[in-house]
Amino acid sequence: MTKFSILILGNASASPTLTRNQTSQLINVNEQYYLMDCGEGTQLKLREHKIKLQRINHIFISHLHGDHYLGLIGLIQTMHLLGRTSELTIYCPGNIKEIVNVHLKNSKSHLKYPIIYKEVNANESELVYENDKIEIISIPLEHRIACSGYLFKEKQKPRRINPKALKTFEVPKYQINKIKLGEDYITESGETIKNIRLTTEPLPSFSYAFCSDTKYLESIIPIINGVDLLYHEATFTDEHADRAKKTYHSTAKQAAEIALKSEAKKLIIGHFSNRYPDLNVLLSEAKTVFENTEIAVQGNTFEISFSE
Ligand SMILES: [Zn+2]
Ligand SMILES: [Zn+2]
Repeated sequence: MTKFSILILGNASASPTLTRNQTSQLINVNEQYYLMDCGEGTQLKLREHKIKLQRINHIFISHLHGDHYLGLIGLIQTMHLLGRTSELTIYCPGNIKEIVNVHLKNSKSHLKYPIIYKEVNANESELVYENDKIEIISIPLEHRIACSGYLFKEKQKPRRINPKALKTFEVPKYQINKIKLGEDYITESGETIKNIRLTTEPLPSFSYAFCSDTKYLESIIPIINGVDLLYHEATFTDEHADRAKKTYHSTAKQAAEIALKSEAKKLIIGHFSNRYPDLNVLLSEAKTVFENTEIAVQGNTFEISFSE
């Protein structure tokens, strides 16, 4: 069983309201947590969902507009007060380090844990993080300030062993890892048993693209092509397309066009302007272009999962 889920902690743009928090999402890849953006109140939302703050070791900030990071200093402070000692890495295309340090300096705070800052290149797509399970790639966006989305891609999984075949060919245990990686098995008498007779295809690898604040931007299509789940901002409806253009934001229809052209399997839209009390207007607009669209409802979890 593999787990890949996205918990929506906030979906508002600009200011938070009583019912909508600013952008933040918790991405869970096989119980490894990654925090995506950190609007005001993010730590409260994490608590509401019983997420242990200390399990978050990587925070990705898309850009330095307040609705995407104003919860960060509070979260850093709470992690400290809870006795954190382990390293925290923050990824951002702007100088978030300076902002955090001004606060720490003026409040004479000395954190008990180190923060590592990684500046993300907002002009070119690059690998920003990887471990043995996933890689995270930046998605350069076009907004009023440097802004980056992030693509989470599971690495290819090992081939699945066919236990019956292993028994038939009397494969010793120590050979199994190599076989999972696709190697053939050579018997003691020198006979080659092709890997395909011993294994089946690996489980699928999933991908998730988080596209934060941006104007309609076709240059992201090759980066996110074929993604399983695409989050794309949809601040406005088509009626306010002029406003979207001026502020370097997208409409619901434009988000859906990106989903369609990049052959995404599913689209989630978010970052809604507070001028729309009923989010269904944005949803139905997106659906006219890309049917498999859902609203990033605060508190909802989107799962991409597959069990054997
Ligand atoms: Zn924003
Ligand atoms: Zn912004």
